[in-house]
Amino acid sequence: MGILEVKNVNKRFGGLQALGNVNLSIAENTVHAIIGPNGAGKSTLLNCLVGKLIPDTGSVMFDGQSVLGRKPYEINQMGISRVFQTPEIFGDLTVMENMLIPCFAKRDGAFSLHAIGSVASEKDVFEKAKQMLSDMKLYDKREMHASSMSRGDKRRLEIAMCLSQEPRLLLLDEPTAGMARADTNNTIDLLKQIKEERDITIAIIEHDMHVVFSLAERITVLAQGTPLVEDTPDNIKGHPKVKEAYLGE
Ligand code: ADP
Ligand code: MG
Repeated sequence: MGILEVKNVNKRFGGLQALGNVNLSIAENTVHAIIGPNGAGKSTLLNCLVGKLIPDTGSVMFDGQSVLGRKPYEINQMGISRVFQTPEIFGDLTVMENMLIPCFAKRDGAFSLHAIGSVASEKDVFEKAKQMLSDMKLYDKREMHASSMSRGDKRRLEIAMCLSQEPRLLLLDEPTAGMARADTNNTIDLLKQIKEERDITIAIIEHDMHVVFSLAERITVLAQGTPLVEDTPDNIKGHPKVKEAYLGE
């Protein structure tokens, strides 16, 4: 049993079948990539995992519990955190201020859920935010406005903000889209570091095959809303169906 189990998920937009009988199992503590041509249904699938969309049929189980019918923030509290395609940070705030937002949200969420027991002080929350920034090599940039950072650093900050929620499953939708090679390589290194240092499962949608083959342990290829193959990177590279559907060979 994987930490995430998707069974027979279907999703239509009017006459368009965006997802057709999707089955996907993501093993705990692995990096699992989902690839496929534009319009294959990758983002739709991700949206079904985080409560942004509700599948027409099928089930989505996270750690043995159904996510269906739950609100995005509830799914987040279950331990799933998601990084969007375009960085979702507050450009007018400093890096530190951005980092404090999820750290306070985490504390206050825990406070409302378990009102009895100890609650982290404001000082502890600041310490946590500082620690997270130094872990993510952003501490020196804490006073900068987030908008003035490079694309790679914005992504780094956004990932740090997600990690402060202590997710067990991190979902990334094309995290290196539009990045220069140096920023892409930094993002690869960051994700490798996160994988090594934390108990975390990572599901990544990615177009850049260099990123996919640098990180993924399993790869699912989605084509026209349905998984075509799922295998190890080595087997995917040479798979004739994948070459045909995805690499256009
Ligand atoms: P991918 O992320 O693999 O590029 P998407 O999941 O974004 O693909 O889209 C899959 C298909 O569903 C596409 O044909 C897209 O146009 C369509 N689609 C996605 N979201 C919507 C929506 N909200 N309403 C209508 N059609 C949509
Ligand atoms: Mg997409």
